[in-house]
Amino acid sequence: MSKLYNIKNWTRHNLRAWMAEKSIKHCKVQEFRADQIFYWLYQKKAESFSEMHNIGRETRKIMEENFWISSLEKAETQQSQDGSIKYRLLLDDGLSIESVFMPHTSHNTVCVSSQVGCGMGCDFCMTGTMGLVRNLKTAEIIDQVLTVWNDQPEGKNIRNIVFMGMGEPFHNYQNLLQTLEILTDEHGFNFSQRRITVSTSGLLPKIRRFGKEKIKANLAISLNGVTDDVRSKLMPVNIPY
Ligand code: SF4
Repeated sequence: MSKLYNIKNWTRHNLRAWMAEKSIKHCKVQEFRADQIFYWLYQKKAESFSEMHNIGRETRKIMEENFWISSLEKAETQQSQDGSIKYRLLLDDGLSIESVFMPHTSHNTVCVSSQVGCGMGCDFCMTGTMGLVRNLKTAEIIDQVLTVWNDQPEGKNIRNIVFMGMGEPFHNYQNLLQTLEILTDEHGFNFSQRRITVSTSGLLPKIRRFGKEKIKANLAISLNGVTDDVRSKLMPVNIPY
């Protein structure tokens, strides 16, 4: 049995390329099916290939032989008076991360984590005391959005995504970019780039690099100190930059 890939780690662009290659041997597999699979995964929130009924049986079988569809288990939730819900979600290796649902009058937001722990060591932050345990895979970030969204009553749509949970997103740069590609893909979630905010502690080289990427998102820089000295004490990242 060949290794199964978690499909949520794949961008549509990569999946199209994979399907184009498969179509050489299997005439029923067609590249455009990747668009339909994305629609099922991220707009219909399908949890199995068998639900994707407009995709032929042979293609679905090939998908099942090569891919699996992940999900995250809810370990704990805490609701605040303002309606925010904090989720502790379990990863496959037993570690856990936090995501938050934040309701607003005109829209709803999901705050996601990008790492387990964090290596930035900010003085005021509980996550910082853990140190960096590991980066989250693309699928693990995408699954936070899906888990929190699926937990809301029908009609409570998510419009904004903020990367302000555990971790420094720019320390997990490639997976951040892949996640942004899936979130903004017109066949996937189709979030507006203007509705996504990446919050960084201030990694200057990555801020510059991010500014040159094709994918754009809002950038938030945590200052947490009114002077350079205060900021350096609270956030060690301030010292080199
Ligand atoms: S970068 Fe964010 S998550 Fe990391 S230690 Fe600082 S405040 Fe905490």
